[in-house]
Amino acid sequence: MEIRFALPNLMLQALPVLEALVQQGFEAVFVGGCVRDTAMGLPIKDVDIATSARPEQVMSIFPRCIPTGLQHGTVTVLHDGGSYEVTTFRTESEYEKHRRPLQVEFIDRLDGDLLRRDLTINAMAMNAAGVLYDPFCGLDDLNKRTVRCVGDADARFQEDALRMLRTIRFASQFEFAIAHTTWRALIKHRELLGYIAMERVQAELDRMIGGAHPGKALHLLSASKLLSYTGTVLPAANKLAQDDTLYSGLDKLADPNTRYAALLMAGGITFHDAEETLKALRLPTQKMNDILSVLSVQFAMKKQNMESELRLVWTSAVLQYGEEASRRWLSIVAWNQKHHLHDQTHLFGKWLDEMPAMTLKQLKLNGKQLAEGLRRVPGTWTGQLLKRLLLEVALDKLPNEKDLLLKQAQIWNTEDR
Ligand code: ATP
Ligand code: MG
Repeated sequence: MEIRFALPNLMLQALPVLEALVQQGFEAVFVGGCVRDTAMGLPIKDVDIATSARPEQVMSIFPRCIPTGLQHGTVTVLHDGGSYEVTTFRTESEYEKHRRPLQVEFIDRLDGDLLRRDLTINAMAMNAAGVLYDPFCGLDDLNKRTVRCVGDADARFQEDALRMLRTIRFASQFEFAIAHTTWRALIKHRELLGYIAMERVQAELDRMIGGAHPGKALHLLSASKLLSYTGTVLPAANKLAQDDTLYSGLDKLADPNTRYAALLMAGGITFHDAEETLKALRLPTQKMNDILSVLSVQFAMKKQNMESELRLVWTSAVLQYGEEASRRWLSIVAWNQKHHLHDQTHLFGKWLDEMPAMTLKQLKLNGKQLAEGLRRVPGTWTGQLLKRLLLEVALDKLPNEKDLLLKQAQIWNTEDR
């Protein structure tokens, strides 16, 4: 029985590319994510095409193209404002240390190409008419909401260990179950993850944590203990994902960096271990610092529990680690009912919203004016005094007005001498 889908716009736009190949006598089909997402009725992100044409032939048909990955058979074809990855049918053989194929061999048949793919839901093809070609019953698995390896799961994971993370990523992304045989193989081969570059681990993890169902991903990661087998040790791995009840609500935190911070906070790990974990994951420096700043706020706030000091400690933390980190921390505290400061959330929010100044820039007195006002030579004292003034202003104890700031500085100046 023929199963046909209506092609979404992005694929319709790519049709001329497909048809040009077919006209030259080659086989050409849509493959991968765009087929899967179309079959699921989801919007597609990009369009991948597989063809029997060899890369040189593809390049000779399309004048505008980029030889993206010639040795793997991939040419990016530019057409009418769109760009499409056109990859020659291929098999892979002899994988290098459970990660990359040592050899790819171009082949004439689509079946062989689909066979080298990771999951049945990713191993379907569609022709120009939208007719599905599905030798591994991917549609069946889509309907059963199941993630399953193509063919022998043991072999698939041994060939390329990244597929284990992809399995969990897709299961969480779509809230699918993982087929028993696939899961068993994943557990069996989990230590092979050590062969995979940390950048690739990070890319997958990032999509899981930033995705629609991070709680589901963490549940599967914890159940499989997969993250305990990364090439560089993640000190947080064992503590991560122990608290399913908490993580199930992680999707309520919109910002990915806040999710990372919430996870590390919930794991109750040291700052050092958090830092080592993010470093091991090769996170971009900016992103890593953003996350660590949230943890710094947490450690500052953790040290105190006296009601009377709350505002002082909070305000100091805001000044030291910045508004963004503080707001992220606050959203975690508001979200996590078990946090010891959860009940004070609205108070922190109010103090933050009403803070008259948070940075030295916002202070209505600068270093030059301060030094002139006190008739002193500028030095390290200038910054220190300005910070002291800023704290008073932020605490709403002193108005942010130049004359009053200077007056207060003069009082401190004489006191300190
Ligand atoms: P996404 O929506 O995340 O892009 P996708 O299915 O398009 O999903 P890609 O990583 O873009 O995922 O890969 C495109 C296709 O290439 C996949 O659908 C799959 O068929 C195949 N593929 C990708 N990575 C692997 C791998 N490690 N092992 C086997 N096949 C893979
Ligand atoms: Mg894709």
